[in-house]
Parts: sequence; structure tokens; C-alpha cells
Amino acid sequence: MSFSACGAARDLTASEFVGRIKRLRGWQRRERLDALLIISEVNRHYFTGLKASNGMLLSELPGAPVFYTDFRYLLAARKRLTFMEVGSIWRPADEAAVLAEFGRAWRRVGYEGQMPAARFLAWREALPHVEWVNLDQGVAGLRAVKSRAEQTLIRAAVKANDAALACVLRQVRTGMSEWDIGGLVRHAAETLGQGEAFETVVCVGRNAAECHHQPGNSRLRPGQALLIDMGVLRDYYCSDLTRTVCVGAAPSSDLANIYRVVLDANQKAIRAIRPGRRCCDIDAVARRAIERAGYGEYFGHSLGHGLGLEVHEAPSFSTACRTVLEPGMVLTVEPGIYLPGRFGVRIEDVVLITEGGCEVLSQSPRALRI
Ligand code: ZN
Ligand code: ZN
Repeated sequence: MSFSACGAARDLTASEFVGRIKRLRGWQRRERLDALLIISEVNRHYFTGLKASNGMLLSELPGAPVFYTDFRYLLAARKRLTFMEVGSIWRPADEAAVLAEFGRAWRRVGYEGQMPAARFLAWREALPHVEWVNLDQGVAGLRAVKSRAEQTLIRAAVKANDAALACVLRQVRTGMSEWDIGGLVRHAAETLGQGEAFETVVCVGRNAAECHHQPGNSRLRPGQALLIDMGVLRDYYCSDLTRTVCVGAAPSSDLANIYRVVLDANQKAIRAIRPGRRCCDIDAVARRAIERAGYGEYFGHSLGHGLGLEVHEAPSFSTACRTVLEPGMVLTVEPGIYLPGRFGVRIEDVVLITEGGCEVLSQSPRALRI
């Protein structure tokens, strides 16, 4: 398979965003919110397709949604947001004035996203009569089921990630440092996508017992565990993939045994995935498999997480997440066992929930010895 170097992102159609805003406003109606303010960069991007460091999507009921941004993004916003009115806000003080003017009749207002306390206090001052409702979780829920168009983009990101890992593994040699291997990942991610979706984890030997080890100058020795957790970003969508491999010599029987346990947990969880099941039940399947093998205390993180515009998004395969799986959701399945002072193994795949179960999008081989 071949990939061209990626320049401009392929645009999603206007109807995709019209559909997203329609769902947002349907939900707003059910929550009885007179107004809804979307301020986080990722959610503004999700609902408008515009990537801008500043802006606010204001959805009033009744009334039409309006996207406000500043001078720097105005032209781009007017060009792209053909499906929505665009307004201009110059300074934070103007934002409060706009809210004060529009919000006289508002009673219940939803907001999402992190913001400086000063900004929120200005909102409250502008609209002292309003009940503010935090919508972080609700909006995250709206993004959990991916449209066909998003699924296509995520598939492409995962495929690019598989190709990038293959490219890295072809070049890995014993004696290379974690930094060297991290550099190979960076180069492959920039060649096959738009760079890394998150800070790559590369660890060798006992460093692999730290789940999120910072790459350093430890060098890969023959037969040692090499753990690479990497994600290629493509068209703004993330991918996420972990493989643990051995180069230059056969692994110890301990390492091979732990690898089998982790792979078994990964496969059992994947086989258990289907619509209607709760996320925590899938986490439990993998956790049980690792506990039964006697390593429960060495699997100290969740089984996986949602994936999309962000590398970690709702829902998650964790002990606490009771979200019921639906077709179109995309999550990772990444059990691991980390033995302090010895080594660690994690195997991570991306799955798409389908009507009948799930489709494993990650196609990288799951072999310890390469
Ligand atoms: Zn990962
Ligand atoms: Zn992950």
C-alpha cells in the first residue's frame, strides 16, 4: 500500500456539520436549554470544521446558531461556515457584552470546555439571572458515535499508523536508543500523516514497566522487550497503536509467557465486544483473564479509550464506565502487564463497534519476535 504525503486535510461536507449541529440542538431541546455555548477548541472544530484558537458557537432556542470569532479567523470562518451565520467578537469584554445583549430572556444555559475563571466570572456578571449547566459529558457523548465519514478518516489514520510502525520496525536495530527509535516514529508519522497524535512512548527492557515512560538514552539489547506506543494524526483524526517486540534474539520464557497472557486478554476482550454491552463489562473480561493468570495487580490502568479528534475521548473501557456500546463507536483495547525492574508488555488495537460485534481496524502483526 502506498500513502502520499499529506498536505491539506480532506474536507468533510457541509451536510456532515449540519447533521452534527442538528443533533446538538435536538439534545439542547431535550435538556431544555435556552442557550448553549461551545467554547472548547475541539468541540468548535467538531461542530463547525473550523480549526481556530478562538471562537464560540452560540446556539439559541428558538433562533439560529451563530459562530463568533475574532478578526484573525473571520475570513476563514465566512468561507467555510456556509451553513451558519458568522459574527465577530474582538475582545473578551465584547463577548460579555454580546451575551448580556442576547441573554436577557435566557434562564438555563449550557456551556462546555475549560476556561479561565475570569472569563466565566465575566459571563456570570453579564447574566446574573441565569442557571449555568456544565455539558462536558453530554457533548462528549454526542461525539462518541462516529459518522460514516469519520469512520473513513479514522480508518485512514489507523492504516497510516500500521504503515508507520512497519516502517519503524524495518529500521530498528539493537544498539539504538529510545530517542533514536522515537526519531524514526516521528519521521514516519510526518511522512505518512500530519505528525504524531500524541507524544510517542518508546521504552526498552525494564523501562517498559513504566506505562508512559519518557524516551531516553537506554539502548535496545538483543531479546529485550521494546514497547512502542504511537499514533499518526491524519486529517485531524487520531490513531493509537502499541506493540511490544523483541529484536536480535529470542525473548526469555518469562517475557514470552507474559506476552501470551496480554495477547489472550486483548483477544478475549475483542471477542466480547458487541452493541448493547457496557464498557465496564469489556474491561472486566480482560481484567479477569490477567487476574486468572496471576498478574492482576500489574494491570493498573483501564483497558481502553474512545478515539477520534482526540486521542482520549468518551467512552472508555474502564471499571467505572457504564456506557452501553453502540455501532459506530471507536475505542482502543490495550491490556498490559508491567513488572517493576523487569519489563512490561502492552498490546493495543483500535476497534470499530459494528452491528454484530466489532471490526479490528489495527492490522499490525501481533508477534513478539520480529
Ligand atoms: Zn496508545
Ligand atoms: Zn491508547
